[in-house]
Amino acid sequence: MSHISRNTQAVIDLNAIIKNYQYIDHLTGDSNTIAVIKADAYGHDASKVAQALSPHVKLFAVGFIDEALTLRQDGITNPILILEGPFKESDFAIAQKHNFVLMLHSEYQINWLSSLTQAFTCDIWIKVETGMNRLGFAIEKIEQVILQLSPQQKSQLVLCSHFSTAEQTNSDKPLQQLAKLMELVKKHDCKFSMANSAGILNWPESHGDFTRLGLALYGISPIATNPLSQALIPVMTLSANIIAIHKVAIGETVGYGDTWQAKRESIIATVAIGYADGYPRNTKSGTPVFVKQQVAPLVGRVSMDMITIDITDLSSINIGDSVELWGKNINIDTVAQQSDSINYELLTRVSKRVPKVIEQSQ
Ligand SMILES: *Cc1c(COP(=O)(O)O)cnc(C)c1O
Repeated sequence: MSHISRNTQAVIDLNAIIKNYQYIDHLTGDSNTIAVIKADAYGHDASKVAQALSPHVKLFAVGFIDEALTLRQDGITNPILILEGPFKESDFAIAQKHNFVLMLHSEYQINWLSSLTQAFTCDIWIKVETGMNRLGFAIEKIEQVILQLSPQQKSQLVLCSHFSTAEQTNSDKPLQQLAKLMELVKKHDCKFSMANSAGILNWPESHGDFTRLGLALYGISPIATNPLSQALIPVMTLSANIIAIHKVAIGETVGYGDTWQAKRESIIATVAIGYADGYPRNTKSGTPVFVKQQVAPLVGRVSMDMITIDITDLSSINIGDSVELWGKNINIDTVAQQSDSINYELLTRVSKRVPKVIEQSQ
């Protein structure tokens, strides 16, 4: 967009992302911290995030090759791990050309690898099924799979798996999953990777050779109660301006469906953000927003382009004032709870229509 008329924006604090990365990297000691920047870096602009992190990070991870190619186009030269591996046989040639590390999880991918006419010399990670039942080879298959790798690939091999309940500190399952992976790792004398953000925070024994840091990189904890979460700094601030203010008499309603009714004479401000921008439509009345160092409740239904907030109890609010929907003052988890969603989904659903404003001070 060349001309920006509406001031709705997602400000991305790149200093915060570097601090979060360094904090977690320090916390995990010798383990190599992979920055997971799939889904446009969880809605934070993958290329900008990667440019800021590339001097600090050895390895990035994305979901599929298309996402990695975008990073190459934007000048990122670090190796990139492809978490879902190849979707097509021709992905191997692209991976070879661009130094992508492929995570292989299924028989058909191994068949592609063994039928390649040109040598594939990039590193390979093998995903093991330990309890998520989503991606990965059965434990009994691993030996056979490893036989397909070149001596070089075997020497660099990383066995990898994924927790299904790492958030739950009272669950036995994470350590059971880890034990299954560790048995293979010992047998094949290779490296391993198990921990996502929740694993990093809750299960230090799972840090291993590589952690895969996603959500916490963006300053949001998958386990708000874990004391290690306190040092994380939220990276995204979603904000929009007030575009109208009006008085509403007792008994009047606000918004579609008349779901909110004034119990007193109220002052309602209309804010230029709606569900088409990624603010969830089912967010309940009463959800806090932050404006001029004060907190106001959302009232009435979220529209496509607008929300309405009750500013009756606030002072000196004017048209043009900036309203924070989530960020450093409004915890995204609160909005997630009030809209039956999770922080991951809210971040990744901020729509294209919202410009990302990159902030980085020296
Ligand atoms: C997305 C993803 C991660 C990162 O998970 P977070 O919970 O965001 O830290 C790690 N590993 C795999 C395989 C993933 O797909």
